[in-house]
Amino acid sequence: MRATQTIFTNAKLADGTLNNITVQDGRISSIDRAGSRQDIKDVVDIGGALLVPSFVEGHIHLDTSFYGDKWIPHKPCTNGFDVHERVAFQAENMAAAAPMDERARNQLDLCISNGALQMRSHVMVDGSVGLKSLETILKVREEYAGIIDIQLVAFPQSGILKSPGTPELMDEAIAMGADLVGGLDPLSFDRDIKGHLDVVFGIAEKRGIDIDIHLHDAGTMGAMTIEEICARTTALGMQGHVAVSHAYGLGDLAPEAARKIAGLIARSGVSIMTNAPGNHNFPPVALLRAAGVNVFSGSDNIRDSWWPFGDGDMLRRAEIIAYRSGFYTDAELSAAFDVVTAGGAKALRLEGYGITVGAKADFVTLAAEHVPEAVVAIPKPRRVFKEGRLVAENGSVIR
Ligand SMILES: [Zn+2]
Repeated sequence: MRATQTIFTNAKLADGTLNNITVQDGRISSIDRAGSRQDIKDVVDIGGALLVPSFVEGHIHLDTSFYGDKWIPHKPCTNGFDVHERVAFQAENMAAAAPMDERARNQLDLCISNGALQMRSHVMVDGSVGLKSLETILKVREEYAGIIDIQLVAFPQSGILKSPGTPELMDEAIAMGADLVGGLDPLSFDRDIKGHLDVVFGIAEKRGIDIDIHLHDAGTMGAMTIEEICARTTALGMQGHVAVSHAYGLGDLAPEAARKIAGLIARSGVSIMTNAPGNHNFPPVALLRAAGVNVFSGSDNIRDSWWPFGDGDMLRRAEIIAYRSGFYTDAELSAAFDVVTAGGAKALRLEGYGITVGAKADFVTLAAEHVPEAVVAIPKPRRVFKEGRLVAENGSVIR
């Protein structure tokens, strides 16, 4: 293969310094204070814009979004929020929607053009859809190879024990190419925390893969489930390989109880994903981070049967997290930014992430003074580079 070398000049890094970044074969080979370099022909002038690592979209559903399809009005639950009823509404909506591969591409283009180049998507695997959704999303993932890195989670949207055949389907999903095994509210959905987690951790152990569990359960029920997940993670030596998504219950606890469980989560090396959604209590991001817990984020639902919101912009997600967490100082705003970048990289165990020599040249340019300003201003003109190659500009993916 021909060696390619590109120099990105006048790039402002998070520390405020202007630098030249040299990229060799897709990786950063040097970072030098800006000065003239005549020896490299391929020059991209960043023009003093802020250059940050690409965003990590750590939790999204590529199979269920209607983004780019016709508008589907949100249908409220009959008697307050009910996961079972929402799943039924989703099945109705999906039957009338555009083909899944089209909708997944729309959503991917949206995320990439906003600067997300690493993604974890949950894909529904259950008795009703079987492995059909996964087959479709696996094909779409192949189309996007070299533009965005995608991890897929086999997600039991209809429960594991309540939906016959799901354990076997989830195991087969991994054999087909899904990367992680998922779970869903072991207590409130399957009414059997042990039985549910036996399947999830069993598949993970057998296949040597990571875990990412949806946990919407509130208060004590959520906290108990997290304690059980932490205990199993530690017992199996899976620290760093397990994530709990949403973990709303952590937001219901009094500060002392929250600090206690945060210590356990940190010791177990379990990551917590929050998208700081609407009117839900959500995990106390600052408290968790102070205890050493890795926190990451994602758009979750975009224009789907669960809610009408979502724009695939992880910088806006950082703002939402900061806004809802009452973050005002530069350090706090930078923490929210960390959640959508380095926190995501840690949870997804990404190799070669960040603006550092040896890392992959996956970065985004922003018209902002510095990171805290970027979080509140959410500047839209962006250039997105994957391994040093321009893949999106002005809101469009370049192919
Ligand atoms: Zn989700």
